[in-house]
Amino acid sequence: MNERQRLLSQIPSVDELLKLKTVEGWLKAYPRGVVLTAIRHTLDIKRALILAGETPEMTTGAILDKIGESIKRLSTYRLRPLINATGIIIHTNLGRSLLSKRAIENICSISNRYSNLEYDLSNGKRGKRYSHIKEILREITGAEDAIVVNNNAAAVLLSLNTIAKGKEVIVSRGELVEIGGSFRIPDVMASSGAVMREVGTTNKTHLRDYEDAVNENTALLLKVHTSNYRIIGFTADVPVADIAAIGAERGIPTMFDLGSGCLIDLSRYGIDGEPNARDIIKAGVDIVSFSGDKLLGGPQGGVIAGKKHIIERLEKNPLTRALRIDKLTLAALEATLMEYRDEQKAVENIPTLKMLLQPIKEIKNRALRIAKAIKGIAIKDIEGIDVDVFQEYSQAGGGSLPEAALPTYVVSIRTAGLTVNTIEEILRTGEPPVIVRIKDDAALFDARTIQDAEVGELAGRIRSALRDRD
Ligand SMILES: *Cc1c(COP(=O)(O)O)cnc(C)c1O
Repeated sequence: MNERQRLLSQIPSVDELLKLKTVEGWLKAYPRGVVLTAIRHTLDIKRALILAGETPEMTTGAILDKIGESIKRLSTYRLRPLINATGIIIHTNLGRSLLSKRAIENICSISNRYSNLEYDLSNGKRGKRYSHIKEILREITGAEDAIVVNNNAAAVLLSLNTIAKGKEVIVSRGELVEIGGSFRIPDVMASSGAVMREVGTTNKTHLRDYEDAVNENTALLLKVHTSNYRIIGFTADVPVADIAAIGAERGIPTMFDLGSGCLIDLSRYGIDGEPNARDIIKAGVDIVSFSGDKLLGGPQGGVIAGKKHIIERLEKNPLTRALRIDKLTLAALEATLMEYRDEQKAVENIPTLKMLLQPIKEIKNRALRIAKAIKGIAIKDIEGIDVDVFQEYSQAGGGSLPEAALPTYVVSIRTAGLTVNTIEEILRTGEPPVIVRIKDDAALFDARTIQDAEVGELAGRIRSALRDRD
């Protein structure tokens, strides 16, 4: 018998393994299917390694360890929480906005009991799920009426399909936006059945460009917020008030796809360049659409606010049923919107706004606490590891405020024993995963997006990652 055959003959049978005490214990704690899958998976891997000429450890203990790891992996959720140390607040890949406490509480209270989701309590008849959110949206945006769908992409699709199917939509060449995740204005336009009529040039579009393009087939004048880019230099675009004015004069509906649904005036906090929904509605545009989980800081959703006669048409479109918002989202959105009745409260309680507007001193303190927790002692290098705290810049993310450089503090880690890419990988693949920023061969931990409750856990993960070096 050669070495390979000898090793293959050591692979236990599934039945043998099932009789072991450890496995019997697992069978009591986990579903039988999970234990069997883990056993077969582990044995398959051992067999493949042997056939590839390797000599894996074949003791019962070593095999049971692998099976145990496999059971654990099969039993943990694939979608799970992580620590965002990138400093990108509305990180599209990392779940965008965190919900406020109030939003989470409302999700819980609506989800384990029956609710009046589509029931009118005043007359005991069938009601509409959209009715619950109209009043608060009217109050906060100043619009006549509003509806909410699955996300802002759906809001734009629904609006174009309802207002302009088979007709022309006039839009500036400077505003043909692409957002991450393949939302592109020309593609959404095509999917909606509307015909895109581009006007102006990449850098300059004038009022007369819109006026000249209007014809009997024009159904909508569309403005799109250039969320994630800016055209600078020799440029001109037409203010939304002017577009609204031509629309009103010619009897053509107007729309502004706002992207990030900012509901407060950020310029009061020193952040310029992000229009807020109330001002845009006041400018006279018929409808605006925006996301629920960008600067608004709520759940994924797409708000369309504006003239009642248009919102009523949207509600009647059969597509609305396919794009409708779920009750948990409604619960979270209503609670988030309620926070905006008191701007101070909104800024304190909505995590997205809180992180965006957090005083630099607080961020610095958190960075210092993280650094201190990593070392377990005061700021002073532990052997071979360079831990530093310094000023850097965070980003808003989510296609918002592309030019805003938000001063922040980061903890930086560098060590002779490990490359920065190895540190990044260890942190990303552990539990909980930690997603870092890499700059100049150092791993940076931006204290802005690290939650206070995560400081201890993060420091623990970093310490154990650094212990793994060599
Ligand atoms: C983000 C964005 C969208 C898409 O919104 P989602 O809520 O992600 O679907 C559409 N238009 C603009 C201008 C955006 O910035």
